Amino acid sequence: MKKIALVTGGTRGIGAGISKALRENGYLVAANYHKDHEAAEKYHNETGIPVFSWDVSDYESCQKGIEKVYEELGGTVDVLVNNARITRDSMLHKMDPAAWNIVISTNLTSVFNMCRLIVPTMRDKKFGRIINISSVNGVKGQVGQANYSAAKAGTLGFTKALAQESANKGITVNAIAPGYISTDMTEVIRDDIKEKIIAGIPMGKFGTVEEIANTVLFLANDKSSFVTGITLNVNGGQYF
Ligand code: NDP
Repeated sequence: MKKIALVTGGTRGIGAGISKALRENGYLVAANYHKDHEAAEKYHNETGIPVFSWDVSDYESCQKGIEKVYEELGGTVDVLVNNARITRDSMLHKMDPAAWNIVISTNLTSVFNMCRLIVPTMRDKKFGRIINISSVNGVKGQVGQANYSAAKAGTLGFTKALAQESANKGITVNAIAPGYISTDMTEVIRDDIKEKIIAGIPMGKFGTVEEIANTVLFLANDKSSFVTGITLNVNGGQYF
């Protein structure tokens, strides 16, 4: 029987690549998103992957969304990829409390919400793969991103704790910390700034969505059963 994978923020950017790679590798995939219905519909039409809209920052919304996934896919989740995120960048001395709260709830509380609702079923079936997408900026911090860096660093602590709690239940919990990845977001970076960033990456390039998706496939694999509680830095050789 096919394993079921659920990817939050799975219809755009890196998440879209992760959903597609999982499907191409034999998983039944559900892709969550929030408000961009047009992009989600386009993605569904192109890939055939079922898409589900809910707000990962809200516990009840997650509960309802996950129930719909179970109904439509006919089983509970084996592989959970927590990938959804937003940014609200500004220097701390100008940061609105609302910008702090929404980034923490969308990027960190969401990881609690999704795991809290899915881990019990994984414990029952004594199998699970949880992959939390953090960021290079959660590892090293970033100017203008105190909220985002805090959420992404928080995800790493959460990953290590849940990995220990789940270790004797067949559930692995790992994080990936991508460096700069070519997406719509990096497309809009000014060329001179892009050059400066690339100069700091030993491999001399941005990563690709496929390079992150392949790392997810590795961690999701049944055979990666002794790997848990780690952060895989996928960043072209940057060292902090
Ligand atoms: P995008 O901004 O391109 O996409 C984010 C996705 O998250 C969208 O599908 C969006 O839904 C969804 N989302 C946002 N808020 C919510 C919410 N409240 N509920 C449900 N879904 C939501 O992200 P990227 O592809 O750039 O990044 C993917 C992951 O990789 C993130 O965790 C990010 O932090 C990490 N990362 C990315 C890097 C990069 O270079 N791009 C570098 C390092 C880490 P909708 O489509 O409806 O808006």
